[in-house]
Amino acid sequence: MDDCLFCKFVSGVLKTDIIYQDEDFIIFKDINPQAKNHFLAVPKKHFKYLAEMSDDDGALLGRILKKISSLSDELGLKNGYRLVINQGDDAGQTVPHLHIHILSGQKMQWNPA
Ligand code: 5GP
Ligand code: ZN
Repeated sequence: MDDCLFCKFVSGVLKTDIIYQDEDFIIFKDINPQAKNHFLAVPKKHFKYLAEMSDDDGALLGRILKKISSLSDELGLKNGYRLVINQGDDAGQTVPHLHIHILSGQKMQWNPA
C-alpha cells in the first residue's frame, strides 16, 4: 500500500533498524517505547484488522507468533513478555497496518486504561 508507514519500512522506501526479518514479517524497535524493550512485529502483507484475514493470513500470523517466541535472546524474552495487538479506535490503533507489540525486559502492570 503506497501511503502506509509500515509498508514503507517493509519495502525499504523508509529506513528503520530491522532486528529480524524473514519472508513473512519484520521486527524493529518502537520509536516511542512503552517498556524497557518494545518491538513491533509487522507482517509484510498489508492488512489493518484481524477481521480481514483469510485462512492463509491466519496461518501467517501463527507462524509469526511462533517465530517471536523463538527469538528469546534478540528480544529479551527470557523472564517473560507481553504481546499486544491494538484494533481500532477504542484500542488506540494509530497505524493502519496490523502489527504486534512485543514488550519485555521489566515487570509489567496490567492496566488497559
Ligand atoms: P498502534 O498505536 O497502532 O498500536 O501502534 C503503532 C506504534 O507505531 C506506536 O507504538 C508508535 O510508537 C509506533 N511508531 C509510529 N511511527 C513510528 C516510526 O516512524 N518508527 C517506529 N519505529 N515506530 C513508529
Ligand atoms: Zn501497510
